[in-house]
Amino acid sequence: MGKGGGKGKGVSKGGDKGKGKGKKGGKGKGKGKDGKGKGKGKGGGKGPARVVVEGHERFESVFIAKAKEDSLVTKNMVPGDSVYGEKRISVEGEVKGEDGKADKCEYRVWNPFRSKLGASIVGGIGHMPIKAGSKVLYLGGASGTTVSHVSDMVGPEGLVYAVEFSHRCGRDLTNMAKKRQNVVPIVEDARQPMKYRMLVGACDVVFADVAQPDQARIVALNASMFLKNNGWFIISIKANCVDSTAAPEAVYASEIEKLKKDNCKPKEYLTLEPYHRDHAVVVGQYRADKKEKKA
Ligand code: SAM
Repeated sequence: MGKGGGKGKGVSKGGDKGKGKGKKGGKGKGKGKDGKGKGKGKGGGKGPARVVVEGHERFESVFIAKAKEDSLVTKNMVPGDSVYGEKRISVEGEVKGEDGKADKCEYRVWNPFRSKLGASIVGGIGHMPIKAGSKVLYLGGASGTTVSHVSDMVGPEGLVYAVEFSHRCGRDLTNMAKKRQNVVPIVEDARQPMKYRMLVGACDVVFADVAQPDQARIVALNASMFLKNNGWFIISIKANCVDSTAAPEAVYASEIEKLKKDNCKPKEYLTLEPYHRDHAVVVGQYRADKKEKKA
């Protein structure tokens, strides 16, 4: 995982579950990776772990919580709320105003084992077009685990249109979106974008994690309807969903060829081991202009 750059955000007082366990007056000592502190200092520590949150060294929309082990985190759009039981880390910001009170902000820990997008960031992907203010079409939203982190990444000025065809998952997604005003839940089939064209505006990024054999076609179809020229796509490929008899590397190569034929020009691909076995992500641009094509 990349080390955080120079965007330090102060010192936190641990996660929401990071309550100290020792006697009063002792020094708390962080334990574990998610800002979950357990007081273990000399004299019986009371107090949560001390965690510093820094900006990611390359991507402005994600952060690193530095403790005994580093964790990828996003800035919580809805402080006080966890979406799927993930840990939260509360951090004091810069002192602002005459009262000398510091801003508080909260981050949510993003487990790369539970998210292909999270795994690609931790795994060192070179491009991350999802930024503050981005409009993202997310295909395969499931119950909204990763969608919620994308919602944090794009922030209040951005939008996430999350498409999911399972009604059971769609219910969770819709409930999550009630608290997150920048998420538009769409319970539809991503193979039929005409059904949701009235709900979705022009997008900067299409992200797809549908785990279907025709997912390259699904991405191209949605890109042609909703992506601006030079817009970005990110596709997660689960090799055995496409062809369970071929070697994963051969499947990734053939999916890349399919994308190219549909005006989706890959810029890079990354396998997601050890977080997701036989998965890769491909990042690229749709109808990239000539200058971009040469790059
Ligand atoms: N991206 C999710 C996350 O990180 O939380 C996990 C997605 S899961 C691997 C794939 C999801 O895509 C499933 O919830 C499935 O119901 C959905 N899906 C599969 N085919 C779809 C389609 N044609 N249209 C919409 N959703 C689809």
